[in-house]
Amino acid sequence: MTKEQWGALQETLCKTVGENNYKTWIAPLTYRGSQRGVAQFNAPTNFFGTYVSQNYGDLLLSHIAGMDPSVRKLSFEVANAAATPAQPGTGAPSAQPAARSETAAPAANREDLPGAPLDSRFTFDSFVVGKPNELAHAAARRVAEGGPVTFNPLFLYGGVGLGKTHLMHAIAWELRARNPELVVLYLSAEQFMYRFVQSLRERKMMDFKEMFRSVDVLMVDDVQFIAGKDSTQEEFFHTFNALVDQNKQIIISADRAPDEIKDLENRIRSRLQSGLVVDLHPTDYELRLGILQTKAEMYRAHYPGLHIEDGVLEFLAHRISTNVRVLEGALTRLFAFASLVGKPINMDLVHDSLSDVLRASERKISIEEIQRKVAEHYNIRLSDIVGPKRVRTFARPRQVAMYLCKQLTSRSLPEIGRRFGGRDHTTVMHGVRRIEELRQQDGQIDEDIEMLRRALEA
Ligand code: ADP
Ligand code: MG
Repeated sequence: MTKEQWGALQETLCKTVGENNYKTWIAPLTYRGSQRGVAQFNAPTNFFGTYVSQNYGDLLLSHIAGMDPSVRKLSFEVANAAATPAQPGTGAPSAQPAARSETAAPAANREDLPGAPLDSRFTFDSFVVGKPNELAHAAARRVAEGGPVTFNPLFLYGGVGLGKTHLMHAIAWELRARNPELVVLYLSAEQFMYRFVQSLRERKMMDFKEMFRSVDVLMVDDVQFIAGKDSTQEEFFHTFNALVDQNKQIIISADRAPDEIKDLENRIRSRLQSGLVVDLHPTDYELRLGILQTKAEMYRAHYPGLHIEDGVLEFLAHRISTNVRVLEGALTRLFAFASLVGKPINMDLVHDSLSDVLRASERKISIEEIQRKVAEHYNIRLSDIVGPKRVRTFARPRQVAMYLCKQLTSRSLPEIGRRFGGRDHTTVMHGVRRIEELRQQDGQIDEDIEMLRRALEA
């Protein structure tokens, strides 16, 4: 990699790690050149080099190798030997030969470990805590403190996109920051299997066993993957037991509870249950809104001119499913569109740029479901909600139902009208407006609607 190429990477790196991290950890590095596949950097101190190599090493390497595939390793050396504690206050700094950062050595070993890179965005700082994930978060925090091993393994489970991988990476970052010596290995169950099969094929099982038994903390993501894969399960079981015997922390994730994973050997299942099992519940409205607000705040730093109109984030939190990945994707797209067309982020833009996402999540709440729930709530019959009677006891709940249909589905007014006994779209519009007014004036209606919305979204 040339110095120019390194220069060109700076902006991307700054965006990826955030400005603060960039200024603190990346900007002070000086790139010296590459030799035999090693990109060499000067770092201000030994500690600095170690920290960067452990916390940003994977990320730097992946970006650098993207530019120059011949680079396979990074080294961080201290140019100014006087700055290293080993030689306090000797001679003219620039005359000293470069002192190789000793602590860079374990990092080099670590590259031989079969772990997956950690995503620099997945930290505790960026994890938004709410009711559905507070237990999982607390357990992850506890493990990340690296104290005596109290529950082994920590088993995190939950549906797709609820933050399992994020929490695991956060634990790894935190452990490494607190104790750079600790060998923390994170990988997916799929990678575990791949390594296992490869070692079998290359007749390197001894190396494989030794390598896995030498780590201090083992994290295996998406362990449901090994269900039904008998010899991989077997090997996993032995690795697991060996580490538990040495009192090493193990952290496992899966998309469901241990007893719901089919084709898993019973002894493994009971091993997995022997520590602390915590689940991430589907997100609720408050958590989704919290996540959107946090992410929007981050985006605003990148797109300073962009304005988000009131109600947009609330709408997305209402409408988009419990999967946080989908939620994030929607927000990313909104910001990208808004910056392309130079418009503020408002409901028009939401409908223009997210129609597919909204359509996909619409299945969740149907008009009929809303009508049923509302009827139940007001203790009237479904047929009274859609029927012709205009007495207040039916008309008001009917308007509430129309209002909720407008809010929680993406059906048009004419469509909603049709589904309410073939009413005209102006009738629906009138109903929706009326409820909007009433929500301001009448606390009871406001409360009813809030309750209904929760019940429907649960
Ligand atoms: P899983 O591994 O459970 O499928 P991930 O950990 O990959 O889910 O999370 C999917 C995305 O959602 C990631 O980008 C992650 O950062 C984000 N995410 C999930 N939960 C939260 C949360 N509570 N706060 C902030 N971001 C979250
Ligand atoms: Mg995951």
